[in-house]
Amino acid sequence: MESLFFNEEHNMLRQSIKEFVQKELVEHNEEWDEAGLVPEWVFRRMGELGYLGLRFPEEYGGGGGDFFTNIVLMEELAFGDCGGVGAAVGIQCDMATPPILAFGTEEQKQRYLVPAIKGEKIACLGITEPGAGSDVASLSTYAEKVPGGWKVNGNKIFITNGYRADFMTLLARTEKNKGYKGMSLFLVDTDTPGYVVSRKLDKVGQRASDTAEIFFEDMILPEDALLGEQGRGFQNIMWELQGERLIVAATCVAGARVVLQKAIDYTKERVQFGRPIIKNQAISHRIADLAARIEAVQSLVYTTAWQLDHGGYPTTEVSAAKLLAAQLMFDVADEGMQFMGGYGYMMEDPMQRMWRDSRILRIAGGTDEIQREIIAMSMGLGV
Ligand SMILES: Cc1cc2nc3c(=O)[nH]c(=O)nc-3n(C[C@H](O)[C@H](O)[C@H](O)COP(=O)(O)OP(=O)(O)OC[C@H]3O[C@@H](n4cnc5c(N)ncnc54)[C@H](O)[C@@H]3O)c2cc1C
Repeated sequence: MESLFFNEEHNMLRQSIKEFVQKELVEHNEEWDEAGLVPEWVFRRMGELGYLGLRFPEEYGGGGGDFFTNIVLMEELAFGDCGGVGAAVGIQCDMATPPILAFGTEEQKQRYLVPAIKGEKIACLGITEPGAGSDVASLSTYAEKVPGGWKVNGNKIFITNGYRADFMTLLARTEKNKGYKGMSLFLVDTDTPGYVVSRKLDKVGQRASDTAEIFFEDMILPEDALLGEQGRGFQNIMWELQGERLIVAATCVAGARVVLQKAIDYTKERVQFGRPIIKNQAISHRIADLAARIEAVQSLVYTTAWQLDHGGYPTTEVSAAKLLAAQLMFDVADEGMQFMGGYGYMMEDPMQRMWRDSRILRIAGGTDEIQREIIAMSMGLGV
């Protein structure tokens, strides 16, 4: 069927990514979930194929595509049930590197963006701290100006790709007592003395994507590690995170389709009381409700992406899409497991992984509550 949002080029891209995902990734889903790490060859291979730079300019090795090219990539990873790879790649392409293109110097682009697009350098994004989660403006990692550079002390937690990233896009405080106005972005090589990966965190879901806690102990950065204007780090990263949230929403909708289809297939096969369980309206109507929600949220995600891609800044719609899509994915996974009874709860069936993987989507990239807060504030209901 023709789409309002995807043209022939998107369709061809989708086909090639689908083949790659099905041929080279899907068979490893369980193995990487158990290992707790996506191997580095995946980044290199995806870099070679051009998938890590789809919407970056060609002059930096990117594909020069629009926002929908990234949606295609993340949807296809979700269709392949590769949640952990999606998280790792999402940080690489949609979160840690877009600020380099937007605010970096030419030298920073050559040093970090170009190898990240090739898959030769793995990126992570360091915002969250033990004392500053939803309230990013309260973060305390401090980059003190010293002769010739910066001395950084502090601590980041829940950092995706953090266990083995080559560089971090870091948000740190450069002025005390100035709230969100006293923050700046930095590009940090992870082999800098004083950069310490203290532990790899053990998670419930999306286990294939590694997550780490990181300390900075008198870490000295050169002057030119500053990314963008000093004091504008918070505004710059928050601007960029709109795209991230929408990509997460697109991933949720695609994931919901996969899980719902799996549930439908199962309920058609499973016979109890002499008939397939889908013949019970108690089940088929719940499937219908979920299918209707998928179509509604899908439309919201695509129309919001179109606005973002055409110079709009639809923060309320982005938050609405993230909120509804993450809840949808979670509900579909939970109902999917319910429809499968005890079989869905067994580790030998992928449903348990889909269920585990779905939970984080309501937390990372801004929690449900924070999305509601943004929507409420846009309605003049903020405190
Ligand atoms: C697997 C995983 C990967 C992640 N990857 C990264 C990463 O790569 N880089 C990075 O920087 N961060 C990352 N994060 C951090 C993530 O963005 C935060 O976990 C998230 O923003 C919430 O912060 P918190 O966990 O500290 O929860 P808190 O902010 O402590 O919130 C706890 C609860 O209180 C609610 N709450 C907080 N404030 C309000 C309010 N004003 N009104 C109503 N309710 C409120 C929250 O919604 C939540 O339900 C990751 C997290 C996880 C779990």
